[in-house]
Amino acid sequence: MKKILITGAAGFLGSHLCDRFINEGYHVIGMDNLLTGDKKNIEHLFPLENFEYYHHDVSKFVHVPGDLDYILHFASPASPIDYLKMPIQTMKVGSLGTHNLLGLAKEKKARMLIASTSEVYGDPLVHPQPEEYWGNVNPIGPRGVYDEAKRFQEAITMAYNTYHGVETRIIRIFNTYGPRMRVNDGRVLPAFFSQAIRGEGLTVFGDGSQTRSFCYVDDLVEGIYRLLHSDYDQPVNIGNPDEITIMEFAKEVLAMVNNPKAHIIYKDLPKDDPKIRKPDITKAKEILGWTPKYNRHEGMLKTYEYFKKVVEVPAEA
Ligand code: UDP
Repeated sequence: MKKILITGAAGFLGSHLCDRFINEGYHVIGMDNLLTGDKKNIEHLFPLENFEYYHHDVSKFVHVPGDLDYILHFASPASPIDYLKMPIQTMKVGSLGTHNLLGLAKEKKARMLIASTSEVYGDPLVHPQPEEYWGNVNPIGPRGVYDEAKRFQEAITMAYNTYHGVETRIIRIFNTYGPRMRVNDGRVLPAFFSQAIRGEGLTVFGDGSQTRSFCYVDDLVEGIYRLLHSDYDQPVNIGNPDEITIMEFAKEVLAMVNNPKAHIIYKDLPKDDPKIRKPDITKAKEILGWTPKYNRHEGMLKTYEYFKKVVEVPAEA
């Protein structure tokens, strides 16, 4: 049985990855310090013999007994308001954490895949963004702690690949959504769904003309699974290229939830908020044979089912 360590296991993506690798017959070690993760996302795995949970902060030395075949490094605050609140932890998990895990990968001769991000492209001047684009990042802006940690993460990962011969894989993840996103994580999809369900104002930042391209989580997990098992060690974008403005997206959520009290309100656009974002997925198609299967409506319906269960609606005054 192959053994895999997944960091950030109790988070949104980490928990879906734990499910996938358990279903594929792996022995999964899930690691998390629960800074932004939630044990509820993986507690259904606790009774399984081939699942172990380690409570640990990977920015400290990481020890795993016995053999290890694969490492997926998915620990990190990932929402802009989280990394504004926790800038130092965000930098440490992307830098020190990655260094520790690369050391572990070298020691165990394990293959390591790191979760990089479309944020390495910053506020992009090239559209859509191919892997060859070097990005437009403000290193000292509010998002710099995340963007630069992830850029450092890519650099040190390539260094371990080149100088130590560690087998590495780099995925650049574009906006992804689905069940188990934290209701209050501040990202646009949980924000809009919870506001619409509660009958509040949907907080559109700026004039809502900025764009994003949203990928359903099962598609992303499939891309990660394929990349891990491929022999390609350069960065690969995984995301859904179906681009939409945030204003149009707010209207889609309003139409789906259909709560007469819900409406649109405007808030200031956060500093350095990227104006456009859309993945060029040519590489994922050619190298991994991967394309997203869920359209936004299907993915949003599945996510809405989840939020209906977890969003608390205050009683009428
Ligand atoms: N956004 C918004 N209202 C919200 C939260 C986010 O209009 O309540 C906008 C945000 O300004 C950005 C986009 O939605 O342009 C996506 O934001 P998110 O925080 O989900 O992730 P990002 O892609 O910026 O990392």
